[in-house]
Amino acid sequence: MDSIKQLVVKSGLVDLKYLNTPEGEMYLQIAVASVAVGVALALYLATASKSEPKKILESPELTLSTTEAHAMLPTITDWHRMKLVEKTALSHNTNLYVFEIPRPTGHVKGIHPEPVLGLPIGQHISVSAEIDGKNIVRSYTPTTLDGEDPGRFHLLVKAYEKGNISRYLSLLTVGQEVKVKGPKGKFVYDRDLADHFLMIAGGTGITPMYQIIKASLADKEDKTQMRLIYANVNEDDIRELLYTPLARAY
Ligand SMILES: Cc1cc2nc3c(=O)[nH]c(=O)nc-3n(C[C@H](O)[C@H](O)[C@H](O)COP(=O)(O)OP(=O)(O)OC[C@H]3O[C@@H](n4cnc5c(N)ncnc54)[C@H](O)[C@@H]3O)c2cc1C
Repeated sequence: MDSIKQLVVKSGLVDLKYLNTPEGEMYLQIAVASVAVGVALALYLATASKSEPKKILESPELTLSTTEAHAMLPTITDWHRMKLVEKTALSHNTNLYVFEIPRPTGHVKGIHPEPVLGLPIGQHISVSAEIDGKNIVRSYTPTTLDGEDPGRFHLLVKAYEKGNISRYLSLLTVGQEVKVKGPKGKFVYDRDLADHFLMIAGGTGITPMYQIIKASLADKEDKTQMRLIYANVNEDDIRELLYTPLARAY
């Protein structure tokens, strides 16, 4: 725990004095526990001190245009079938999946805005499949924001050889469908949540962080200062991710 404390202190966001308080200890313990199970975790620290406004960096990839678009998930709680339209290997065990969001009845491409998932930032979806006669459900966080890839959303999923849904996805071919439902989760990010945001993630736990970071950077009014501490088994697991346009830009 002490070496993790040092790491967090080195990030420059919080000092050791704060981490040694009961509140600081509590946040840190939650953070470490979440990394240990290899899923997403966000630890946010609202500090009393006012910080320098962050420099907003421009990125042409983060231009969103969805104001009037049909939001697929928050309005309907049933399972939706979404078609896999692209699948790209990003590493030896991780694929990027692109799914098409079904258009509502009467939708005319080019006239109506393309449908969006409509997930609040920080929330995720459920993906379900019948495997060996059982209905299996797992959570995934889209890495695209609404409108970023019009009418579609992306998932970045690590395949486990003996896993259920991740293996099922890895065996899917373009044109096949999966069942999707959402939104899920208790945490919702908004620009007024805190001045500083410290995120600690392990492995595929990066996806919720990625979504929050992108949303924050795309919002010119958002002055939140963000820091990310990210752990992986080895560099090969994230090599592609390091060279995404977002990682290059920031
Ligand atoms: C909020 C949230 C968001 C998430 N977002 C993402 C995301 O964006 N991308 C992502 O990749 N993951 C994400 N995850 C993780 C995801 O939900 C799944 O946990 C992950 O894909 C593994 O699911 P699975 O069904 O393939 O494996 P599981 O069936 O759950 O198996 C998990 C592990 O146990 C092993 N195992 C399973 N059955 C056995 C057995 N009988 N004997 C021995 N070992 C076994 C498997 O090999 C595997 O290593 C997220 C999780 C949460 C909670």
